[in-house]
Amino acid sequence: MEAVSRAREAASWWAGLSFRERRDHLLNWKRVIAARSDELGDVIHEETGKPVGDALLEIMLAVEHLDWAARNAPRVLKRRRVRSGLLAADQGAAVEYRPLGVIGVIGPWNYPVYTPLGSISYALAAGNAVVFKPSEHTPRTGEWLAAAWAAISAKPVLQVITGDGAVGAQLVAAGVDKIAFTGSAATGRRVMAACAETLTPVVIEGGGKDAMIVAADADLDAAAKAAAFGGFGNAGQTCAGVERVYVERAVYPEFLAKLAAIAESVEPSEDGPYGRMTVATQVDIVRNHVDDALAKGGRAVVGGPESIKPPYVFPVVLAEVPEDSTAVTEETFGPTVVVNPVSSLDEAVSLANASRYGLAASIFSSDRGNSLKIARRLRTGAASINSVLGFAGVPALPFGGVGDSGFGRVHGADGLREFSRPQSVTWRRLKAPMDVMSLTRDPAVLDRAIRIFRLRHARGAANSASSKWPGHPGA
Ligand code: NAD
Repeated sequence: MEAVSRAREAASWWAGLSFRERRDHLLNWKRVIAARSDELGDVIHEETGKPVGDALLEIMLAVEHLDWAARNAPRVLKRRRVRSGLLAADQGAAVEYRPLGVIGVIGPWNYPVYTPLGSISYALAAGNAVVFKPSEHTPRTGEWLAAAWAAISAKPVLQVITGDGAVGAQLVAAGVDKIAFTGSAATGRRVMAACAETLTPVVIEGGGKDAMIVAADADLDAAAKAAAFGGFGNAGQTCAGVERVYVERAVYPEFLAKLAAIAESVEPSEDGPYGRMTVATQVDIVRNHVDDALAKGGRAVVGGPESIKPPYVFPVVLAEVPEDSTAVTEETFGPTVVVNPVSSLDEAVSLANASRYGLAASIFSSDRGNSLKIARRLRTGAASINSVLGFAGVPALPFGGVGDSGFGRVHGADGLREFSRPQSVTWRRLKAPMDVMSLTRDPAVLDRAIRIFRLRHARGAANSASSKWPGHPGA
């Protein structure tokens, strides 16, 4: 692929720059994006249908990450000395995070700037060139970002290729050094299988079925407001949006009433609070999930199948939906939420965790200590307490999932290292006190080394399980 060959050349120029020079380029790029954000916001709005205000919010968040990646790459990735330890006391040791080369980034359409820049900014800051294939639904947004790069540098360190999945598949097979894929778990599986052919490493940022847990001591107004924003915002097309809510039974009716009141007041439109469904086929998935929830005995508290008025979907609040309904088990990616009562927070945690997905979750409670304990029990890559998506605007925090939500991390120091190759270097600084790494070593030196080894590592073995082995002198 021509773009990858061009990127390979640009990558060696880019990797040869100092951290400071790379940072200056990235900050120049950032300034162009920020200064012309109205223009980019319009492109996002036209391609996705999201209100311009939401598009600008997305750009603001993305630029915050770009700024962080540019400024923090030197601190995170620079050469750092490590202790060499007793066995290798004669060696000096250091680790450094080197660029991988060319990163292929494959993006989705729902946040066509924020999501791919989560990989692109960090990959560039780590010294790599990037070939980016945006979603076929948002090609102009991708092209705009590459044009903004071209405005600050003649070197094709960031290029964009457009097209559908077939072009994505070509990029995967084009000999890049890593693929950063964001999209559905189903496509992620195909991308990973293709990467396996060439042992190309891959980051998968998959979908989600995120849960919100509402404790009996929660601020219910705040929780309902957040559930509405996390569930209906961006027409529900948010990988880490709220799709399920588990509420302690004592406050269940009150919470449901508050959420219903907000949902009833929301009317999607081009200007907000959220726009049309971006992709027509997504409407059918939403309809199927709503139908399935009702057919299985769930209750529509707000809306129902009649809320689906393509290209818009009005808010749908479903209650007491059986846990085996597709509205609970599969990613809906529409402005619908399932709200189910639970008899305890333990039950909430186990239902939240009973999902193939594990991207993020939120907890509403006035007991911060207990909320932190709950967060640690959730099988997710992130959790927000008393907010939704709180982590998205904190660039220092890594982002990524478990299970069908994928693996690997973008954002933060982990995101910079994700696009780096740790290189370990040692150098001899003394004559070895006990030189055992030699074909002509003195057996007495090896004996001494073994005695020291046992003193350091085998003391106390008589009390451990190993002494119970049959045949062991202590057994
Ligand atoms: P998708 O899986 O349909 O497509 C994603 C990208 O993959 C597109 O650019 C597409 O052209 C490309 N593609 C398709 N087939 C390919 C193939 N065989 N080889 C290589 N590339 C291929 O996803 P989508 O509908 O664009 O995005 C929505 C999904 O993305 C949702 O599941 C959402 O949850 C997820 N998402 C996840 C995150 C995250 O950070 N975890 C962020 C945003 C969206």
